[in-house]
Amino acid sequence: MPDQRLPGFATRAVHAGQEPDRTTGSITPAIHQTSTFVQDGIGGLREGYEYGRSGNPTRTAFEQQVAALEQGTNAVAFASGLAAEDGLLRAVLAAGDRVLLGDDAYGGTYRLLKRIHEPAGVRLETVDLTDAAAVEAAFAEPVRVLWIETPTNPLMKVVDIVALAAAGHANGALVVVDNTFASPALQQPLALGADVVVHSATKYLGGHSDALGGVVVTSDEALAERVRFLQFAAGAVLAPFEAWLLTRGIKTLDLRMRRHTESAGAIAAQLAAHPAVERVYYPGLPDHPGHDIAARQMSGSGGMLSVALAGGEAAARSLAERTRLFALAESLGGVESLIGYPSLMTHASVRGTPLAVPENVVRLSVGVEDLADLQQDLEDALRTH
Ligand SMILES: *Cc1c(COP(=O)(O)O)cnc(C)c1O
Repeated sequence: MPDQRLPGFATRAVHAGQEPDRTTGSITPAIHQTSTFVQDGIGGLREGYEYGRSGNPTRTAFEQQVAALEQGTNAVAFASGLAAEDGLLRAVLAAGDRVLLGDDAYGGTYRLLKRIHEPAGVRLETVDLTDAAAVEAAFAEPVRVLWIETPTNPLMKVVDIVALAAAGHANGALVVVDNTFASPALQQPLALGADVVVHSATKYLGGHSDALGGVVVTSDEALAERVRFLQFAAGAVLAPFEAWLLTRGIKTLDLRMRRHTESAGAIAAQLAAHPAVERVYYPGLPDHPGHDIAARQMSGSGGMLSVALAGGEAAARSLAERTRLFALAESLGGVESLIGYPSLMTHASVRGTPLAVPENVVRLSVGVEDLADLQQDLEDALRTH
């Protein structure tokens, strides 16, 4: 009997959707930088491709690769993470539907729901998804979409996907997980019971801070069909060159996530022991409230951590502006280390809302540079403020 075992994760990352070119043998897939496709007679499409918005082979290569990594049957790629989220939300929501969102979600997700979908009649409620009683109370009324992010951005809360997916399904909700922070190398929500995974591929999937992209993954064929229609009809598609950059990045995802995790763990321990630090938010630390759940549902704690400074807002801003290797920038998940001040940067749009981030917090995206250099950079920046 042939071996039916699914190839391992790193093998899928390198090979899924990445067949060598049939005519030239090119081992990497071509970039099909084209807007349209020649027809052999009216309607005579070669391999189904017609026009760049409805489909492109480079985009298909990316979609197949991500679907394989998330163990889904379908992936639908968009021009950014938020375009993917919007495509999914438009595909499932109608006026009057209620959406339950974690209270530490990515600020852009909150803004999309609050400013675009709520005015269209959707009802948005934020809740602490790590608080079982609060979740139960929120399910007193029907919920159409339960939107989970774990670990959360930026406070690194860990939400129990198995338990929340069961609660969501018991109440008829579609369970969505934003898997951007963990990446499929560390966490595969569909296998834990979620219906849909979304990514900002801009972050760990691409991994090199050189492309924007987003993707929706699901094994629900009817839902995938609706999202694919939104992709085609609204047109926020992933461009061919971006798709190619992302597929190239994904081939080293497994390697990168191992290094990110190893270095972030060491930096979390370093900072937790530092007198200038009030608190470190990192699920790999044994005293993190979500440590046990993270150990169950993730195969590593990842490269993101946040730090609350004992010296308050001034100390946090000073640290963010004084590191040299950790570049002060929005975004995360690249090979280069970044530092951010969420309350005025990534999360400025949620200041004064229930999702506001404490003003003494900085967020680190730990890159793949030498750990000793990264640790020295933080040590120096903390000493000089
Ligand atoms: C960046 C990010 C997004 C949005 O993705 P874009 O590619 O910037 O549109 C969504 N969710 C999370 C967790 C993110 O970090």
